Amino acid sequence: MQGRTLIAGLLAATCLGGPLLAQDLTVGVSWSNFQEERWKTDEAAIKSALDAAGAKYVSTDAQSSSAKQLSDVESLIAQGVDALLILAQDTSAIIPAVQSASDEGIPVIAYDRLIEDSRAFYLTFDNVEVGRMQARAVLEKAPEGNYVMIKGSPTDPNADFLRGGQQQVLQPAIDAGKIKIVGEAYTDGWLPANAQRNMEQILTANDNEVDAVVASNDGTAGGAVAALMAQGMGGIPVSGQDGDHAALNRVAKGTQTVSVWKDARELGKAAGEIAVELAGGTKMSDIDGAQQWTSPSGTTLWAKFLEPIPVTRDNLSTVTDAGWISVDALCQGV
Ligand code: BGC
Repeated sequence: MQGRTLIAGLLAATCLGGPLLAQDLTVGVSWSNFQEERWKTDEAAIKSALDAAGAKYVSTDAQSSSAKQLSDVESLIAQGVDALLILAQDTSAIIPAVQSASDEGIPVIAYDRLIEDSRAFYLTFDNVEVGRMQARAVLEKAPEGNYVMIKGSPTDPNADFLRGGQQQVLQPAIDAGKIKIVGEAYTDGWLPANAQRNMEQILTANDNEVDAVVASNDGTAGGAVAALMAQGMGGIPVSGQDGDHAALNRVAKGTQTVSVWKDARELGKAAGEIAVELAGGTKMSDIDGAQQWTSPSGTTLWAKFLEPIPVTRDNLSTVTDAGWISVDALCQGV
C-alpha cells in the first residue's frame, strides 16, 4: 500500500507535471487605488520578493472602482496567474472574484484589507492597534476638548478596525467628560479631497471649535490639515498612518502629530513569499506566522499580522534610520 502511494507521488511529480517550481510561477496583483503613495512601496517589495524567487509579476489597478476590480481579476486569471494578491476596493463586492479564483484552484491573499472569505489568506498589519496608536498620540497632545474623527472608506473594513481602536483609547476620556466627539465622517474612496470637504463642513458646523482631529491615514490627514490651515488652525493635533513623505514632513513641521508607520516593504516581501509558497502547494496553515483569526462578522481565516510603529516628532529617526525617507526629504521646509 505504502509502495503504491510512493509510486503515485512520483508519477504526479514526473509524468503529470508535478509541483510547480517558483520560476514557472506568475503572481497577479489586483490593486484598488494604486495612485496612493504607499502602494508603490508595497509593489516594489512584492516585485523584488518575486524576482528573488524567480517568479513573474503582473498587475492591474481598479482606480477605486469595485466593478473594474472584478473584471481586472478575471483578466489576471485569464492570463494564467498561479496566485493572486487582492487589495480589495470593496470587501463584499470582491467575493465573486475569490469564487472565480477558487474555481480555478488559484490561491488568494487578501492583501492589507480583509476579504470576508475563508478561502483567502489575510495578510495585514494590526489595524486595531494602528487606530489605538493614532488616538493615543492625539490624546497625549489634546487631553481635553472637541474631537473630530475622519474615518476611512466605508467599503474598506480597515476603516472600522481603525475607528474601533481609536474609540478604545478615547472612551475613558469621553466618559470622564474631558473630550467630546463633535464630528465624524467616512471618507469615500479614502480620497484626501473628500476628507478636506468633510473637515470643512464639520468646522463650519462647530464654529471652528475643534481641538483635535483623529484622521485615519496620511491622505485624509492631508485633507484635514488643508481645511484647518484655511481657517488659521494649523498645528492642532492630527493623526495619520502610512509614513507618506508629505505626512512625515508635516510631523517634522508640527502640523501633524503622528503618522503610524507600517513598513510596507515588510508586508510586500511577506506577500510575495507567501504567494509563491501557496502557489507551490503549501497549505495556508503551514505559512510561517499564520494564525487562525475570526472577523467581527464571524468569518474564520488564516491570517498573518505585522506590527505598526507610531512616528511622532520625538522618534523621526526611526524612519530615517530605516532608510524609509532621507533626512533632506524629511526636513524640507522645516
Ligand atoms: C490601508 C492604509 C491606506 C488606506 C488607503 C487602508 O486599507 O491599510 O494603509 O492608507 O487603505 O489606501
